[in-house]
Amino acid sequence: MKKYSLAIHGGAGTILKEDMTPELEEKYRQGLQQALEAGFSVLENGGTAITAVKAAVVHLEDNPLFNAGKGAVFTKKGINELDAAIMDGKTLEAGAVAGVRNVRNPVELAEQVMMHSGHVFLSGKGANDFAIKQGIKLEPDEYFYTQLRYDQWREIRDSDLYTLDHKSDKLIGAVKESKFGTVGAVACDKNGNIAAATSTGGMTNKQYGRIGDSPLIGIGTYANNKTCAISCTGHGEPFIRAVAAHDVSCLMEYKNMSLQDACEEVVMKKLVEMHGDGGLIGMDANGNAALVFNCAGMYRGLKNSDGTELIAIYNDDSK
Ligand code: ASP
Repeated sequence: MKKYSLAIHGGAGTILKEDMTPELEEKYRQGLQQALEAGFSVLENGGTAITAVKAAVVHLEDNPLFNAGKGAVFTKKGINELDAAIMDGKTLEAGAVAGVRNVRNPVELAEQVMMHSGHVFLSGKGANDFAIKQGIKLEPDEYFYTQLRYDQWREIRDSDLYTLDHKSDKLIGAVKESKFGTVGAVACDKNGNIAAATSTGGMTNKQYGRIGDSPLIGIGTYANNKTCAISCTGHGEPFIRAVAAHDVSCLMEYKNMSLQDACEEVVMKKLVEMHGDGGLIGMDANGNAALVFNCAGMYRGLKNSDGTELIAIYNDDSK
């Protein structure tokens, strides 16, 4: 039997221990642990990589600490617009949604798009209509509300700034850079098939229907059994311009790089040069994982059938 493995992230950015209380840190670690268990038990029971990444991301979407599903950030108009994508490395089938509202688990809607829409990417009202047709679970606006995200939005709603989902400390152009709370998962199952999924509320105060990297296939999310499964988190605009996820895949396919080397090339060199703060998680079809980021921290977890188990937040955090 082949090695099976699951990696997750809950966003990257300026995540500093001094900004965290022990209680809050424990909540993040628990949230990551629960999502990791949910996805890993699918693999343990012989489930597919695609089912595993969906299960892990659903858990993170349901957790208000993360900027996806419940706990998503607010747009300029004071609403929540959600983006998600999923991709199967075995078939290269993919599904994605952008700017959807009131969908409890956007990753499930992305999977429905992949399986039943005949398309890859649906947006806005059309995606919502499709959600209703497929019987996807909807929630009222209040479900998505959290005080933290609301306060973050109130701070900047009268400006043209847009921020990631954490308190701001630095300005990049029109962006207040800080922490990126998108969630994602990559997995390799017992049959050596890999998959990736990503889900996000995007950036606080985003406007004009802004879409980030997360739901874009080949950018924030990608999977191909020949190379790797990737889920990104960070400042979406540089990630889009870097074609981040597919770039990792290309380095493996055309330059024979290992997963780890390819991830480092993109995150630590290419994205750094483009001021693309953030990171990504990757998985290859041998169950090897890479968790790489170029900022202070990334909420992350890894578990595999060799007995490796990791939950970590900060750069020097191997706990
Ligand atoms: N990448 C996401 C976006 O730009 C944000 C994040 O990772 O938190 O929409």
